[in-house]
Amino acid sequence: MALTQWSIVSLLLILSIKVKPISTFQSIIQMTPEKETLLAAEGISGKRRGVDLYCESWKFTVETNDAGSWTRIPERCCDFVKEYVTGERYVSESEAVADNEVAYAKSLGFSGDGKNAWVFDIDETLLSNVPYYAVHGFGTGDSKSEIWFLGDNDRENQKRETRSEIFDEVSFDNWVDLAEAPALSASLRLYRELQELGFTIFLLTGRSEFQRNATESNLLYAGYTNWKRLILRGDSDQGKLASVYKSEKRKEIEDEGYIIRGNSGDQWSDLMGFAVAKRSFKLPNPLYFIA
Ligand SMILES: [Mg+2]
Repeated sequence: MALTQWSIVSLLLILSIKVKPISTFQSIIQMTPEKETLLAAEGISGKRRGVDLYCESWKFTVETNDAGSWTRIPERCCDFVKEYVTGERYVSESEAVADNEVAYAKSLGFSGDGKNAWVFDIDETLLSNVPYYAVHGFGTGDSKSEIWFLGDNDRENQKRETRSEIFDEVSFDNWVDLAEAPALSASLRLYRELQELGFTIFLLTGRSEFQRNATESNLLYAGYTNWKRLILRGDSDQGKLASVYKSEKRKEIEDEGYIIRGNSGDQWSDLMGFAVAKRSFKLPNPLYFIA
């Protein structure tokens, strides 16, 4: 009898142990305190990993538009952004987007009536201004003219110091006038593939009409040719949000009978609004935000 009672108690104990994990189930995807402690215990390299993790997550929110209208790169992510846009990951991620665009374009199988259009943004889409930012500091921007650049370590003192300066529109326009911005290699490959497939290419930029000649020269210098139309902000477009201005111009393209099959841009304002393309492709850009 005593043995039977012991067996029942043992059975209840076993059941209670098996039930407990179900009642206290937690996601395995979480940053446990133990892991945070581990990073801290690893000293500088651990801190660096912690910063990189934070900045990776911040960049994710930027690229997915979860960050909304942002004006500054988090100070601790300044070096992360600089290393990103000058490193192989920027190239690799741009190539990955281009691969998807090419695959989509090839899947359409349309007839060559010239009415299948693809719209490209220019800055940080076809052309890279990273050489400019490398000289003037890597930075962030808001939707208007006040753009802050953060950057430049004080190498002499080995401090991870961040400096900031207000965006200098004159110096950036001088850079545009030089017409020496290189192509983003992934975009140039895509551009040429789309032309071979028979797409009609429209270039839709936030640059202004007075920059038309320099922009055309730069596009040719970088290897882009035979676009259908280069659309820049005219007098009546000044002051409009990019998302409004670009939507209006896409609508005009559609009203001419074109089907905008694809749209490539580094800002969500290149892609959203109305008259949106059948597929929109967001290229990476953690440097600045344009509404
Ligand atoms: Mg752009």
